[in-house]
Order: sequence, then C-alpha cells, then structure tokens
Amino acid sequence: MPVPDLIIRGQRVMLPETVAPRSVHIREERIVFVGDYDDVIAGCDVVDAGEESVVMPGLVDTHVHINAPGRTEWEGFRSATLAAAAGGVTTLVDMPLNSIPPTTTLAGFKTKLETARDECFVDVGFWGGVVPGNTAELAPMFAAGVVGFKCFLVPSGVDEFEHVTEEDLREAMPELTRLGALLIVHAELPQSIKTNGVEGADYRSFLDSRPRVAENEAVELMIRLSREFDTRVHIVHLSSADAIPVLREAQAAGVKITAETCPHYLHFAAEEVPAGATEFKCCPPIRERDNREELWDGLKDGTIGLIVSDHSPCPGEMKLRESGDFMKAWGGIASLQLRLPIVWTEARRRGFSLLDVTRWLCANPARQVSFEPRKGSIAVGHDADLVIWKPDEQFTVSATALHHRHKLTPYAGEALSGVVQQTFLRGRKIYDDRFIDLPLGHVLLR
Ligand SMILES: [Zn+2]
Repeated sequence: MPVPDLIIRGQRVMLPETVAPRSVHIREERIVFVGDYDDVIAGCDVVDAGEESVVMPGLVDTHVHINAPGRTEWEGFRSATLAAAAGGVTTLVDMPLNSIPPTTTLAGFKTKLETARDECFVDVGFWGGVVPGNTAELAPMFAAGVVGFKCFLVPSGVDEFEHVTEEDLREAMPELTRLGALLIVHAELPQSIKTNGVEGADYRSFLDSRPRVAENEAVELMIRLSREFDTRVHIVHLSSADAIPVLREAQAAGVKITAETCPHYLHFAAEEVPAGATEFKCCPPIRERDNREELWDGLKDGTIGLIVSDHSPCPGEMKLRESGDFMKAWGGIASLQLRLPIVWTEARRRGFSLLDVTRWLCANPARQVSFEPRKGSIAVGHDADLVIWKPDEQFTVSATALHHRHKLTPYAGEALSGVVQQTFLRGRKIYDDRFIDLPLGHVLLR
C-alpha cells in the first residue's frame, strides 16, 4: 500500500454504522484506508484527536443562500465559506435565488460559476431554479452541473425569482422526470397566507399569518404531482409537523418524496420569541413547542431525512429591528456556522446519538445531491473531508465569533454543546481556530 500523506486518528471516529477507535489514512485528497487506531506508518504525519474529540465526516449543507453575484453585500462566497469552515462544513450547496442574475438560465449559472471560482474555502455545489417559462433552460443547466432545481409556491421575496403555479409545474415536471432531476420545493400555498396581516411587533400575529395549513396543502399538492409525473420531489425547510403523517404515508406508498427541516425549527419555539425580535423571522415560521417535538419524531422515524441550515442572511437594517415589525422585516435566519452545535445540543437532550446526527448532517444531505460517492462519510474512496470537534464542551454563542457577514442572530447568548476544533478539506487543514488563508474549495458540478 502506498504511504499516506496524512493519518487522522482518534478514539471516536464516526464510521457509517458505528463509532470506533480508528486511523483514517489520506493520500492525494482521498481516504485510502481506514485501519485500527494503532495502524500508523512510521514517518507519516499523524493528527491524533485524542480521547474526547470526535472525528466526523465534514458536514454537508445543501441549503445555503450565498446571494452572489448581485447581492454580495448580503453574504458572498468568501464569508459564507469561511463561516462554513469554522462550523465544520466542508461542502455546501448554494440556492439559485437572491443572486442577480438568479440561477434560472444557463447564462445565469455561468455567471454564478465565475463569481464562485477562487473565492471558496470549502467545496460548493449549485441548485438551479424552476420559474415560470424557463423549462427549456433546465436541460442545459443540468448538463452544465447544477445538482437539481428549486421552486417556490409562494412569492420568494425577490422579483427576479418568480413563484410557480400548479400549471407551471405541469409544464416543468415532465422535463425534470426526463432528466432524472430532483425538484426541491418551498412548500407554502399563497391562498392560505394572510399578506395583509396585522403589522407590528407581535410574533403571534405573524405566526397566524402563515398557518400550518399553507404548508400542509402545499405538501399534499406536491405529493399528488410527484405521483402523477413520477418526479423526485423534496420539501425544503419543513416547519409544519402536521404534514409528517401524509409524507410518511406517501413515502410508504412509493412516492418519490423526501423532506428536510432546519435547526431553528428544532431549537426555538414560538412561545419564546420576544416581541419585536425580528431576528427570529423566517418563512415558514418557527412554530409552537409541541410542533417542534413532532418534528423530532419525524426525524426519528426517518420521514424527515436531513437537517440543513437554510442559512439566509441579509444586511442587519433589513431586519427592521427598531420597529420590530415582523410583517415587513426580511425573513431568514443565518446559522451556517452553528448547525452542528445546535443540532447536537437538541438531539442529545432527546436521546439521539452521534450516529443519528452524522446521518442528518453529513450522509443524507450528500445523498440528496448525489455527492455520496465522495462526500458525507468516512469511507475508502471518499474525499478526506473531516471535522474534529468536542461534543462535551459547552460555549455561549457570541455574535462577534460568527464569520457570517452580518452578525445579527437569534442564537446570541444561547448555551450550546459542541466545539469545532479542526476542519480538513480533501486532506488539507483549513481551520483550527483560525483560517489557513487560501481558498482551496472546489466548485462541484454534478
Ligand atoms: Zn432557503
């Protein structure tokens, strides 16, 4: 066997089915051998994670809004991928909207790729978008490397990324099926949303303006269309737990439909959102405590397969913190850097294991975008993307420690467990409490 470039070992290495003392041998950016802890080769560099730290696959986050080009002042590839590295995320997938142009045409995708190249500190893939009238662009974008396509069933918040109706989907879905492409859906229906809701700082009025039924009916529509057109469909950021039983039933009946949820729905509860605290605003909204616990049940039985950040930042002033008006403030929560400790803190509290967390944060997101032959697991042949972190160490979230471009966060002051110590991208250390200052990330094409 050729001599590895580096061996990373520890007492708690997260393998696909078990946690065990292992040595991970890395050569030319890939994992070439996973041996016993003592399998080290004389003269080879060894990083030892020790007794308490976990060696986990680098996190994969398939729902990140980077907003570049065009709205780079909202985030941008540099700050997003630095925050990712600090959070143990080695692969992320950028959403097709908020950038100008949006990724809804081949030309728009090419502009996106030019913007991203040489700016990324971790590996980055891309979603395309389905908007009214762009069916002819789907095949060229898919051939050029987008991992799949996103659509909105309600206004997205930006004019250049229009939402689709059932009629639009009836045109696009046969093409998506022909391509074998995944359609990911912002599932809220406009008819159940009160856009003329009471303005002001009361969270309850905002919550009532985006009721669970808007999500439930959208999920039912997508189940029906997925069944009819045999299109693979994925529900993004599921917030209404009422939709879980119908999803479970559809999955059992063979409908190709999956779902994700997000850290904020699993950590916060509507009852605890302070008046005027617009940093908690996102769409669909953070719901009640009982709903949160039912989302955890959906993760437990696998109806919900992954947890992604939906990192959706904006300049602080767009949050209208002074008026605290929930109806008018921009919706979106930035949590790219914090996904691991939030999810681990809440998962552990409910008796879930590190293996569960690895499945939700690494393996399943990688599978969703067909990156699983290279990403999301510690296995021979995979990219040597690894994070070493301390699950038992606590910290209090300080906005100034976040590398997101904008620091306003509902997590400020929260006590979380899980401190990232070192992040490795394809065998190179990119973070160890400071950044190794070259953008080594690749642009990942399907
Ligand atoms: Zn989103």
